[in-house]
Amino acid sequence: MSRRRLASLVSAAFLLACAALPAAAQRAIGFDAYALPGSGTLAIPVRQDDVASGAFADLDAAADGALSRAVAAAGFKGRSGSKLDLPGIAGFDRVLLLGIGKDEVTPRVLEDFGGLVGQDAARSAAPRIEVLWRGDEANAASHIAFGAALGQYRFDKYRSRGGDGDDDESPRAGQGDLVIRTPAGAAAASGYESQWKPVAEAVAFSRDLVTEPGNVVWPEVFVERAREALAGLPNVSIEVLDVAQMERLGMGSILAVGQGSQRPPRMLVMRYDGGSAGEAPLAFVGKGITFDTGGISLKDGSGMWRMKYDMTGAAVVTGAIKALAGRRAPVNAVAVAALAENMPSGTASRPGDVVRTASGKTFEIMSTDAEGRMVLVDALWYVQDRHYPAVVIDIATLTGSIVGALGGDHAGLFSRDDGLADQLLAAGESSGELLWRMPLLDSYGSGLKSPIADIRNGGGRPGAGAGAYFLGEWVDKERPWAHLDIAGMAWIETGGKPTSPAGATAFGVRLFDRYVRENHE
Ligand code: MN
Ligand code: ZN
Repeated sequence: MSRRRLASLVSAAFLLACAALPAAAQRAIGFDAYALPGSGTLAIPVRQDDVASGAFADLDAAADGALSRAVAAAGFKGRSGSKLDLPGIAGFDRVLLLGIGKDEVTPRVLEDFGGLVGQDAARSAAPRIEVLWRGDEANAASHIAFGAALGQYRFDKYRSRGGDGDDDESPRAGQGDLVIRTPAGAAAASGYESQWKPVAEAVAFSRDLVTEPGNVVWPEVFVERAREALAGLPNVSIEVLDVAQMERLGMGSILAVGQGSQRPPRMLVMRYDGGSAGEAPLAFVGKGITFDTGGISLKDGSGMWRMKYDMTGAAVVTGAIKALAGRRAPVNAVAVAALAENMPSGTASRPGDVVRTASGKTFEIMSTDAEGRMVLVDALWYVQDRHYPAVVIDIATLTGSIVGALGGDHAGLFSRDDGLADQLLAAGESSGELLWRMPLLDSYGSGLKSPIADIRNGGGRPGAGAGAYFLGEWVDKERPWAHLDIAGMAWIETGGKPTSPAGATAFGVRLFDRYVRENHE
């Protein structure tokens, strides 16, 4: 291919990359041919124990060894996640060196590198940041771009400076272009546009929804945001159950959670049919408590503000449908967002109340703060009754118990199906959204026995395992099912990870996308 033709393809792809900017101010991500710029702001990956390789070697040669002298003087080794910032070096405004370690350069390593570039780019006022990547494999550059898109995420719509309402025209951090210079050029651009950008946009959508406070997003608003996010995507259909419809279906469980709030609950069902007609879909079911006060079993005040995040599971399953439809995945999938606000009031459910669920099974409320499992069981029943899924995976910020066990490094995975569990663990490794398999023993049921109903919603030990056991009582025994408890993963208070800045992570969108890619395409 001629250089000119390559250049025109690259610039066409670049324009495409600029066309659909997300709502929050973010850099447009594009690609360009590999060449050494003589000035500007650059970001370069550096291999540990092999510093003088790749783009670093090219740039160092062009700069008469200035980079290697700086690296030696600083003792920079290229360890994974390390940084060396070189402002005003060799005619450049700035050269940022980022260590990528010495292990095999996997897509996850590239995404983490891209993520650190993106996080830095979001804080920089440079109008254009160029990443040099000498590898000619299109896929690698696409993963760098994907990481950068995830890493540059921020939420500033409520700030009067730098947010939506700010009309100051001076250059601001996080605006302009982020360009990846790679020999893969146009192939990297088209790979990113078709395969990874839709996933990054879905993650950003889910993070926005989680970050929005409870006075902005409640069940009906969630439904509208989901409709907007999925509008125009192919083969997507949406069904919304309101209170009257849920009453007709006997969904006493989600209704019992929603009845204490002025904001009525909703069951939002999103189906994407990108696979063969008639093929059983994969089902993703998400907990969608738009704010969890605990209800009558009121939580204490410290940290309660964060309970706006208690709809992360619902935001993630919605994001998963947006990602799959956005990249035209050849798969059938159905997602259910079980939406309610858990409030204490004169109409709220009480501890001791007995609830009849849509399946006919009854339970006794031990704690109104164990509301996640209450909304989920009617959703689990409904998706099985109407969609006959091949696999059911639910995702929920379900228990504090899982945070005590696993902290902020892994989500808890509960499943009686070893094959499904292994697939999810593998997707966790490749996506970087890590899972840890927990036991799910029949003995967990002994703490959930009720003297007057089929089961209780709380009181069992261990807490996270009893929660999983309770959910499993509403899943057909022969159906592969997994439960993900993401209470420790959905929000990062400080610090963040390369591809998840502090705040809402939307943990699960990338995991589900990889699970589908690796097992159902
Ligand atoms: Mn709760
Ligand atoms: Zn909750």
